[in-house]
Amino acid sequence: ALEFAGLTALVTGGASGIGLATARLLAVRGARVACLDLKPEDVPEPLIGIRADVADDASVRAAVEEAARVLGGIDILINNAGIGAQGTIEDNTDDEWHRVFDVNVLGMVRVTRAALPHLHRSGSAAVVNTCSIAATAGLPDRVLYSATKGAVLALTRAAAADLVHSGIRVNPGTADTPWIGRLLDRAADPAAERAALNARQPMGRLVSAEEVATAIAYLASPLSGSTTGADLPVDGGMQGL
Ligand code: NAD
Repeated sequence: ALEFAGLTALVTGGASGIGLATARLLAVRGARVACLDLKPEDVPEPLIGIRADVADDASVRAAVEEAARVLGGIDILINNAGIGAQGTIEDNTDDEWHRVFDVNVLGMVRVTRAALPHLHRSGSAAVVNTCSIAATAGLPDRVLYSATKGAVLALTRAAAADLVHSGIRVNPGTADTPWIGRLLDRAADPAAERAALNARQPMGRLVSAEEVATAIAYLASPLSGSTTGADLPVDGGMQGL
C-alpha cells in the first residue's frame, strides 16, 4: 500500500491544483508535508504552508531550510510549481521566455539544489518533477511552455543518472485543475466548453488532479524503489492513442 508514515515531504506549488492534491494524499497516507508556494495562506491544515518564490534563489534556500527544520528533514521532494504560457514562436518576448524558464525550469533546479543535503540524509529519498505532455506532444500555440517542459524532462533524466537512488519523475497530462477551470471561466459558455474539452480527450473526460497525485505519490513512495528517470504519463491516453 501507499504508505508514508514517518516520512517528510516538500511540495512546491502546493497551494493549488496538482500540488495540493498530492500534498493532501501524502498527508492522508502518513507523511508530514510542507507546501512551498507564493500563496502559503491558501494551504489548508494539517499541511504546513511556507512562502517561497521558486524564481528567487534566496527565497528558495530560506524556505527549504525552514521546511527541513519544521519537518525534521526532507525525504520526498515534489517539484510541481509551474506557470503556463500561450503563444507561437512569433508571439512571446525574450522577457516572457526568461520568466517562464525561470519558474518552470530553474525553479526546479533551485529547490532540488537546496533540498539535496537533506535528501542525501534520508534513507528513502525521492524527487518527482511535474512535467507535461507538452514536453513531447508538439501542442499548437504552446511553444514556450512546451520548451520548458521538454527541459524538465531532460534535466530530470540527467539528474536521475547523477542521483541514481533519488531522481524519480512523473509526466502528467491535461489534468482537471484550476488551470483548466480558469480557462473555462473565460469561455462564453463554460459548460459547453467543458463538454467540448471532455469530448476531445481519448477517454472522454479530463484527468483529475487526484489521479495525477496518485501517480506522483507512487513515484515518491518506496513501492517504486527500483524506478528512476522514468516517464509516467497520466494523460488519459492523449500521447499514446
Ligand atoms: P495551479 O496553477 O493550480 O497551481 C500551481 C501552484 O504553483 C499555485 O499554487 C501557484 O501559486 C504556485 N506557483 C506559481 N508560481 C510560483 C512560484 N514562482 N513560486 C512558488 N509557487 C508558485 O497549477 P496546476 O495545474 O496544479 O499545475 C501544477 C504543475 O502541473 C505545473 O508544473 C504544470 O505545468 C503541470 N501541469 C499541469 C497540467 C494541467 O492541465 N493543469 C497539465 C500538465 C502539467
